[in-house]
Amino acid sequence: MNKPLQQPSAAALHLPEYGHFIGGEWVSGDSGKTIDLLNPANGQRLSRIQAGNAADAERAVQAAAKAFTTWGHSTPGQRQELLLELARRLKARMQDFALLETLNNGKPIREALHFDLPTTIAQFELFAGAAFHLHGQSLDYPDAIGIVHREPYGVVAQIIPWNVPLVMMATKIAPALAAGNTIVLKPAETVCLSVLEFFREVADVLPPGVVNVVTGYGADVGEALVSHPLVRKVAFTGSIATARRIMGYAAANVIPQTLELGGKSAHIVCDDADIDAAVEAAALSTIFNKGEVCIAGTRLMLHERIRDEFLEKLARTLDTVKQGDPTDPATQIGAQASVMQRDKVLSYIDIGMQEGARVYRGGKRASGPGLDEGNFIEPTILVDVDNSMRIAQEEIFGPVTCAITWKDDDEVLRMANDSTYGLAGGLWTRNLTRAHRISRAMQTGTVWVNRYFNLKPGMPLGGYKQSGFGREFCFDILNHYTLTKSVVINLEEGPL
Ligand code: NAD
Repeated sequence: MNKPLQQPSAAALHLPEYGHFIGGEWVSGDSGKTIDLLNPANGQRLSRIQAGNAADAERAVQAAAKAFTTWGHSTPGQRQELLLELARRLKARMQDFALLETLNNGKPIREALHFDLPTTIAQFELFAGAAFHLHGQSLDYPDAIGIVHREPYGVVAQIIPWNVPLVMMATKIAPALAAGNTIVLKPAETVCLSVLEFFREVADVLPPGVVNVVTGYGADVGEALVSHPLVRKVAFTGSIATARRIMGYAAANVIPQTLELGGKSAHIVCDDADIDAAVEAAALSTIFNKGEVCIAGTRLMLHERIRDEFLEKLARTLDTVKQGDPTDPATQIGAQASVMQRDKVLSYIDIGMQEGARVYRGGKRASGPGLDEGNFIEPTILVDVDNSMRIAQEEIFGPVTCAITWKDDDEVLRMANDSTYGLAGGLWTRNLTRAHRISRAMQTGTVWVNRYFNLKPGMPLGGYKQSGFGREFCFDILNHYTLTKSVVINLEEGPL
């Protein structure tokens, strides 16, 4: 990131007030009410979206149901080409989309450009290939031929959070489209500027109604979508509390769900680790997306022999991190996505102090030129943390790493697994046997060995325990967006 970026300003992008995107058109909401989208780095308004309601959800579901009558019979080649075109549209306006993600979410532009956009594009490219990968099966019997067809569900409702909106949007819509479903997507009400702008591109790529977007609060739009009798499948990423509600609504029509929920991942550093590399990874895990990352290694489990050296080096590394204007290419940590999120993170730091933890570094709002108006929090290390404390068990979702000390492998495994979550985890050791033994015993959907956040397209991502079910980023998710139908053709003639 040495070269300065040529970024258009938000004003130069002429951001409109966004309607809902239904049946291929931008439409006003039924309520006439709107929600402001803010820039968390300075509190200024960027744009407005519709505060949707059940009537808007109804309209979108009807549009998706109508579109399914043709899209459900599209060929794999058509779906592949359209998914690739969506990837091309993202590439063509990469800087615009990165800037919008940064402006609305508060993440550094370098992350938006080098993580969010490439990861989003990779989802469309991956699932463009999947359109041809979806096939049935045939089974031979002496008296019959069995054919297993794989069919789309129909209308799918997808609800996503605010931390990585473009990535979440692509992770949801690309496989569902590849499988031949039509979609109603509800992005988060606080951060969705990039997603809405992307749908200005979608409008002239996908046939009307194939993907619809309804904005608004979860209780008003999300609930109406998930409870709708024409919705055949629900996919959700967000908090456990909301997931429980969604499971309840979807129960009314017995609708299958995939749920990608939170995490409190153990990042284990053994005494034989490459300490400097592990420190870099722990620093990145603390600051990446300001810690608003479900897969962050927030429980940093340090072997007692390396604990002091590690913490000293980690604090020194975090001291060098540049925090400030997220649109500055040099910025490494931006602003929490909302005032509510900022206050939640600060309140967890207080809870930690009451529980007996200690601030080793950071621990408060960041102040100084360019920081006071925004939701900036200092990269924070909490020490003297016991795994049973709330700060070690609950998701803080901010730039706060809790350091926990351990003595032997069995003890660290017990602690790592002593969590209601099980989304990701990390392990640093030079001993291959130890790496296998510990990673296999960790009750979590992903374990990275000797590099954290090593996300690869095609590798399943999803949770154990209350981190949810279903696996995204991989072809396995196609099974969640399709049904099988068994057709048995009798070959025997004559009476039974
Ligand atoms: P949230 O559950 O509050 O909101 C997520 C979405 O659900 C939003 O669009 C919201 O409007 C909607 N919603 C809220 N109430 C609803 C209701 N009653 N009915 C239907 N929809 C409703 O979560 P959040 O705070 O926006 O997101 C942060 C959470 O997401 C964290 O727990 C994080 O770990 C998780 N997350 C998980 C992954 C993953 O892949 N596992 C990825 C990113 C974020």
